[in-house]
Amino acid sequence: MHELGLLTSVVAAVEKAAADADYQVTRVEKVALNVGTMSGAIPEALYGSWPIARENSICSSAELEVNTIPASVDCPNCSKEVEIDEFFALLCPECGMPTGNLAHGREFEISWVEWAKD
Ligand SMILES: [Zn+2]
Repeated sequence: MHELGLLTSVVAAVEKAAADADYQVTRVEKVALNVGTMSGAIPEALYGSWPIARENSICSSAELEVNTIPASVDCPNCSKEVEIDEFFALLCPECGMPTGNLAHGREFEISWVEWAKD
């Protein structure tokens, strides 16, 4: 599953940060992600894969939170940023102008991590 691969990378990044930190991290309480609606990752699948991805890692008891970022384009005709439905991707929903300027929606990033020290 595609989402499992993405989460495996997230867990690896969290483990690396924990290993590099001066603060002694023993556990991670929570990992929050920003996931754009055009990132290709589906929140339900991320939640479904999380218990497998976090196994045998510093995140083994961590909760996952997925914050969905709506897709939007910068429309050269309207001169503003407008939200788009992913099915109408790359067309301004207000004036119909084609635009490739995706302002938001491709995000797949760690938003924050709650560390713990037992
Ligand atoms: Zn427009």
